[in-house]
Amino acid sequence: MEIINLKGIGPKTAKILESVGIKTTNDLMNYYPFKYDLIKRSNINELIDDDKIIIDGIVENNPSVFYFNKKMNKMTFKLNIGSYLLNISIFNRAFLKDKIKIGSIITVIGKFDKIHNSVTASDIRFGKLPNIPVIEPIYHSINGISSNQIKSFIKMVEEFDVIEYVPDYLKEKYKLIDKKSSIKIIHNPKNTNELKQAENYLKYEELFLFMLKMNSLKLNKSNKIGLNRNVDKKYVDDFIEKLPFKLTIDQTLCVNKIYEELNSINRMNRLVQGDVGSGKTIIAIIALYINYLSGYQGALMAPTEVLAYQHLSNLKNIFKNYNINIEILTGSLKNKEKKDVYKKLQSKEIDIIIGTHALFSEDVIYNNLGLVITDEQHRFGVNQRGNLKNKGITPDILYLSATPIPRTYALTIYGDMDVSSIKTMPSGRKEVITILKKNKDIKDVLLLMLQEIKLKHQIYVIAPLIEESDKIDLENVNELEEKMTTAFGKICKIGVIHGKMGKDQKDKVMEEFKEGKITILISTTVIEVGVDVKNATMIVIFDAYRFGLSQLHQLRGRVGRNNVQSYCALISDKERERLDVMTKTTDGFKISEEDFKLRGSGDLFGVRQSGDMNFKLANFKTDFNILVRAKEDSNKILENNEINNYPKLVKLLNDSVNLD
Ligand code: ADP
Ligand code: MG
Repeated sequence: MEIINLKGIGPKTAKILESVGIKTTNDLMNYYPFKYDLIKRSNINELIDDDKIIIDGIVENNPSVFYFNKKMNKMTFKLNIGSYLLNISIFNRAFLKDKIKIGSIITVIGKFDKIHNSVTASDIRFGKLPNIPVIEPIYHSINGISSNQIKSFIKMVEEFDVIEYVPDYLKEKYKLIDKKSSIKIIHNPKNTNELKQAENYLKYEELFLFMLKMNSLKLNKSNKIGLNRNVDKKYVDDFIEKLPFKLTIDQTLCVNKIYEELNSINRMNRLVQGDVGSGKTIIAIIALYINYLSGYQGALMAPTEVLAYQHLSNLKNIFKNYNINIEILTGSLKNKEKKDVYKKLQSKEIDIIIGTHALFSEDVIYNNLGLVITDEQHRFGVNQRGNLKNKGITPDILYLSATPIPRTYALTIYGDMDVSSIKTMPSGRKEVITILKKNKDIKDVLLLMLQEIKLKHQIYVIAPLIEESDKIDLENVNELEEKMTTAFGKICKIGVIHGKMGKDQKDKVMEEFKEGKITILISTTVIEVGVDVKNATMIVIFDAYRFGLSQLHQLRGRVGRNNVQSYCALISDKERERLDVMTKTTDGFKISEEDFKLRGSGDLFGVRQSGDMNFKLANFKTDFNILVRAKEDSNKILENNEINNYPKLVKLLNDSVNLD
């Protein structure tokens, strides 16, 4: 049934609801509360100042109303709750004045001011409180349609349809109630037990379907025919032989795996995860070389321009004795330059293209793209496959990620990929020494900086990050520049780089830093990922509390890239306990575990934006156990082809899983 047919929903409301995808009563029932309030009479003797209060009583006097200006008003009256007279005030409800009559019984919800025996009410309801506590669902309001209105619309729904996806035997296994009851309860729970049962079904279904899709992607992939390649390992070994360093064991294993996969008939879909500085770039380069040898174009995508340009110079250097045409494509190229690149990609004049997400913008047509590598993939979100599918091409895929996530989580979240982990660091690396200082002790940090400057080493200084405002970011950077110039301006050159600078400017600064002309580089987090300047041995991070631990770990990974001792100075007056973890370990896996505990999965995986895991009820962290069960259950159903007994599930997979 269309919602417009519900009483109380006119065309205007219907239109607003439709704008968020609610057209039918079924859609409406699928709009879940985001939390619940427990409506229960407060025991006023137990309350302390500022506590939330829910109380009913008899109106003692006629309310008086004060108007501040045209928009604001405040109504006050006294409420007799038996033992006391409470002074009630409530804002902007003057329209209720005539209903609050002497002697009438009302319920007040608000904040208790014990000293003045008064309540600032947020809500007034007519009638007394029920004797047993009531659980009240609260909905996110929708463009001016309040939680209460949404609740009243949902109350009017008499009939709705559900598709119950969880097979009966699994419902029995976990003693789940049916879906329709669950949804009814979610909107109108009688007690917490009942609510929990309803949530159990709905959470399990969400996670079960998520894992079913993931697992079926994986199964599908392993049956996928890939590109036809036939590369002699000899050439690859020869290339590796000529590199300026010897690969670590894990790098070698990973490269071998990639070689086999590229050369096999199956399509590659592999994630390489390794801590910052573990040397993932070279793996990407070798993969690109194998791909080049087999006659296909390759693409390397980075999350920032700075990183893309670093890759460009790195590749040009490594391939300087090979006749391979490498170019770059980013959003900030001039139109003419872009067109030129498009042309050369289509005609296959370009062998390897490096760039930002501009690599997959609409105008780009590849001649024969064989391999796509995404560096720092956690920065993009889980899925760019959609983009490729739209282009009708099916290259091999390699993701690099420096957010080392615990293995169980990795296997689950990247269910459709194969995962390689690089654990061994290139030999001779020294652990970065991390110190945590208060602002008042900045002198210690400056002294350490001076020591490093004297050693002719270079330093990153990270400005406090204020996400809400680019402008304030900039002010912070400028202020820091002044500070640093006062301290060190006489003995070395100080450079600044930030997101608002043009590409040419950024390039110039980065180039000067790489060449060692700039000693201190002040930066917002544009340098956060991937940047590799070996002579930089110190990073100073102001207001470190503004960053997550994994992000700090990334930043710290900018130093310690060579065999001399490096330092990381965190400056913060706040959240020092959390930050202390950084001084105790440099193990990215431990740090991400810690982050996972503190912040939940969203930030960690960088998937919050991607929509891949927008569960309505389930929470990746707190419901992880359910997820693990759902993973096993969905695997079984797929492996035994049992899924064919469940047409609903088959249809769902066919509709939603992208079988590119
Ligand atoms: P990340 O994994 O963080 O992307 P990079 O690929 O930038 O790390 O590598 C970090 C540094 O280590 C680079 O300067 C790179 O040249 C160097 N490197 C990579 N592998 C080795 C190795 N096997 N031996 C010595 N140095 C290496
Ligand atoms: Mg890297």
